[in-house]
Amino acid sequence: MTALNELGVRAIRDGVAAGDFTAREVADACNAAVASAAALNAFILATPDDALAAAERGDADRAAGRALGPLAGVPIGMKDLFATRGVQTSAASHILEGFVPPYESTVSQKLWDAGAGMLGKLNLDQFAMGSSNETSHFGAVASPWRKAGSNAALAPGGSSGGSSAAIAARLCPAATGTDTGGSIRQPAAFTGICGIKPTYGRCSRWGIVAFASSLDQAGPMARSVEDCAILLEAMAGFDPKDSTSLDLPVPGWSAALDPDLRGKRVGIPREYRMEGTDAAILKSWEDGIAWLKDAGARIVDVSLPHTRYALPAYYIIAPAEASSNLARYDGVRYGLRELPQGAGLQEMYAATRAAGFGEEVKRRVLIGTYVLSAGFYDAYYTQAMKVRTLVARDFEKAWAHCDVLLAPTTPTAAFALGDKLDDPLAMYLNDVFSVPASLAGLPAMSVPAGLDPDGLPLGLQVIGRPFDEQSVLNAGMAIEQRAGFVAKPERWW
Ligand code: GLN
Repeated sequence: MTALNELGVRAIRDGVAAGDFTAREVADACNAAVASAAALNAFILATPDDALAAAERGDADRAAGRALGPLAGVPIGMKDLFATRGVQTSAASHILEGFVPPYESTVSQKLWDAGAGMLGKLNLDQFAMGSSNETSHFGAVASPWRKAGSNAALAPGGSSGGSSAAIAARLCPAATGTDTGGSIRQPAAFTGICGIKPTYGRCSRWGIVAFASSLDQAGPMARSVEDCAILLEAMAGFDPKDSTSLDLPVPGWSAALDPDLRGKRVGIPREYRMEGTDAAILKSWEDGIAWLKDAGARIVDVSLPHTRYALPAYYIIAPAEASSNLARYDGVRYGLRELPQGAGLQEMYAATRAAGFGEEVKRRVLIGTYVLSAGFYDAYYTQAMKVRTLVARDFEKAWAHCDVLLAPTTPTAAFALGDKLDDPLAMYLNDVFSVPASLAGLPAMSVPAGLDPDGLPLGLQVIGRPFDEQSVLNAGMAIEQRAGFVAKPERWW
């Protein structure tokens, strides 16, 4: 029998409901897997007792014949950007180290209400800024994957790198992620798992540490498209506490999954054929096109002419919003306070922020403050907002010709830890394929497509119309069925 920590969300839920095993046994297996994987550094904090308590509630409900929640018995990892009542929520920063929220984020609360249990708080790039999980105050996460014939530690992607590593290493069946410019999709692609960023507003942002509020979206990460759909149903929904939350019913995505794409049109954005993209990525894109054709879809060539301006616009808008959001960390109300001898208020702010923020966070605050400054606001921020509108309009025009778009998730497979750390621009280039959908607020998913010649996973990205997560999931499932991705990282940790 497959070890219980290797099972997916659906298999655990159904197995617990059928009495094939208990939720307690699943929680024990996952807790043990987490405890034995310290070398990955995927968790900032393990919470085995939370997982056990939820499991015991599930088992007791089943024994008493009470109705089981859609995630009863399913232990998950929680990205440490979601506020969890009574459990440290650090955003992988020093400035929030030791911050224990007295409240629970809406999304995590919904997951607990559905019966899920928490295995722990997952590592991430500090304040979700990064593409490799190396900006965490708690150290980098190592991907469980390695290149064939090499022991070099690889990046699990970022910012949801703890989530991707933990799922790929079978420490948990699923986890939460957040995606501002690609942080669900890129780590999913790097580690051979699935992840979906829903339409902006589907999941409440309430209680999620803010990075760039007009872009931040929560979403699920798991090893199958169906598991993502099940999780997203639990996470999504209107929340009056988030003014950008969509007041729409949550569709039954998992029950409506249908990989038959007859009558659907799949757009191939010609501008995504960019210089610097790996040959293996281009080849997997061709495979993806053939698979979707095989699933019955008609393939159409589409143009998104402003694609090349999306990345520079994102790296103005996201830091601008971050510089504003992060102004609240001043040593007065949250976490760290540095109070040098004889310091006044201004010195206290400066000392706290100097000690509490990492290099990348400081870089973003400086860029953001600069582009919002009186003399440069129009030249940078206003201009970037205009570009954002043009990028969104490109997509709107494309929807006249197609139902979903197919593109690579990333320009390369996972790179080595340390490789891009000294070159922020090279790091930012990782987001070139993920950022446009973020700027336009569109649902987008990464699905494993195969392995490159070094034996590393590659992801394909499906982008959909606003609110049409269903078509994204359906196309994702059509890819999943044909890619037949069963590769697992070989255990070294
Ligand atoms: N890598 C991107 C950045 O550093 C995206 C991060 C994210 O989506 N949270 O901003």
